[in-house]
Amino acid sequence: MSTYPPGYILPDLNQIKKIIILGGGTSGWLSALILSKKLRNPIEIVLIEDVTAGPIGVGEGTQPITANTLANCGIPLLEWMKSSKATYKMGVELVGWSDNSYFVDNDYIQNSILFKNVFKSVYFTDKPYTDFLKHNYVYKFAKDNLSPKLNGNLDLNFNVGPTEIGAVHFSAYDILETIKNHLPYVKHIDAKIIEVETTEKGISKLIDETGQEYTADLYLDCSGFKSLLLDKVTESDNYESYSPWLFNDRSVVIQTQYKDPKQECHPYTKATAMNSGWAFKIPIFTRIGNGYVYSSKYISDADAEKELREHLNEWESPAKFIDMKCGRHKTIASKNVCAIGLSAGFIEPLEATTLSFTTLLTNHLVFGLNRQNNIWTENLMYEINKEFGDTINEFFTFVWSHYYFSTKNDTEYWKDIRKLTIDDLPENIKLHLLDYYPLCTDFLFTDLNKHFSSTQWFSVINSADAYKGSSTSLTKEEQEYCKYSLRLQENKYKIAKEFCMNHYEYLQQWYNT
Ligand SMILES: Cc1cc2nc3c(=O)[nH]c(=O)nc-3n(C[C@H](O)[C@H](O)[C@H](O)COP(=O)(O)OP(=O)(O)OC[C@H]3O[C@@H](n4cnc5c(N)ncnc54)[C@H](O)[C@@H]3O)c2cc1C
Repeated sequence: MSTYPPGYILPDLNQIKKIIILGGGTSGWLSALILSKKLRNPIEIVLIEDVTAGPIGVGEGTQPITANTLANCGIPLLEWMKSSKATYKMGVELVGWSDNSYFVDNDYIQNSILFKNVFKSVYFTDKPYTDFLKHNYVYKFAKDNLSPKLNGNLDLNFNVGPTEIGAVHFSAYDILETIKNHLPYVKHIDAKIIEVETTEKGISKLIDETGQEYTADLYLDCSGFKSLLLDKVTESDNYESYSPWLFNDRSVVIQTQYKDPKQECHPYTKATAMNSGWAFKIPIFTRIGNGYVYSSKYISDADAEKELREHLNEWESPAKFIDMKCGRHKTIASKNVCAIGLSAGFIEPLEATTLSFTTLLTNHLVFGLNRQNNIWTENLMYEINKEFGDTINEFFTFVWSHYYFSTKNDTEYWKDIRKLTIDDLPENIKLHLLDYYPLCTDFLFTDLNKHFSSTQWFSVINSADAYKGSSTSLTKEEQEYCKYSLRLQENKYKIAKEFCMNHYEYLQQWYNT
């Protein structure tokens, strides 16, 4: 029986019986996992990767959607967390971007501080950002190095159920091994594709170094920055670079070992402003992932490595340099190809957005195929392109806002950032920011149904006290209510603090159960 309403015109039907995923990085394996676990009518899935080239090997910070997807795909929490050396991530601390450090919490935690409570949120708009931080008990928890969990699931907020896992840091390599163990039906082929043949309908075959040919009905391009398949079925002007707005195009990464894990294994990502970019510190259970994301226009590789080593006080551990291509493809689903991961687009590592839109897109692909009995249509491509465009535009604006609202001004790089204006942003991108700035009304804190919540935007924009001068619209009674509920919150924090262990000690104990 048809699942389509009467009169619905089916455009160019294409029944998908076999999918080839090209690429064995996080995007390739995550897509294989989601497709194989969530498709109602299973499809043959083949993942081809050039094992010698390997994945990019970075991407260790996540947002809650990634952890929740792993759980929804049936991988037991303790298993994947332990095997990928996961630690909890309660947010990102931004140090040195403005006079004050600030903290962007995870979405689900944010809700518990402000709890979609417009009064309490508006209460802070006419006060210095430091006041907000003083009452932000998630930030205090993070800075006290406390675990946000007890017994693997009970949340410090006491209002998030056991199924909400939150964000984590994990080893980019180990998570792949864990996922592979849960994919008995995905065929894995180690081959380097050297030729891609096309017809007017899209890709007709892939050919590897030995002359072996591979065909499928749908091809997922997870080949990383190369976009090997998407570029074959789209025009050359399909790519839009972010370089006029986001300057970073290189990174150098160095891993360090713990000296005192109880102190250093903090449950948050640290993002410190540097001379020509910023440095991340991502503690996983067994070591720390560090990197300097910078612009090659302002600093050489050698100087970037030196600056990072000084910042870390680390002189032995090897450095690895990575090129970054920041921008997006305007169309990511075209003909019989859909790009997922770096091949679709990349903003830059700040706020760890790539794995999120990879997960979102694959979920959307699965939803569409399930709805349409595995038929790939123009409509589904349109939906995927729209979903991707809206998501990456929002993520881009959020990341760009970290730079725009910073106040650092002591090097050429930061002086040039100070010259950026909102007017320079493309129209469709500017709209995302205009929801939150310069207007500051009660509306700011209503749910706009976006990926980053209003309070996360508030943290970024108000970090430089950008709402200074705006006056609260709250009545005296409402302000009293806010003070009262903040006092309650403070007590809740004190009680929670008694229960929760040191982050590292907690994981050590839990992983040994
Ligand atoms: C410095 C840095 C930090 C980052 N931090 C984060 C973060 O904290 N959080 C986050 O979400 N994201 C982060 N990212 C992005 C993150 O790296 C990606 O989200 C993630 O690794 C997914 O990459 P991918 O699978 O799309 O591509 P890749 O990992 O590059 O995988 C590409 C795959 O394609 C295969 N391949 C390529 N060519 C061929 C060929 N010809 N034949 C066969 N196989 C081929 C390769 O072998 C490889 O398996 C970061 C990126 C950088 C540069």
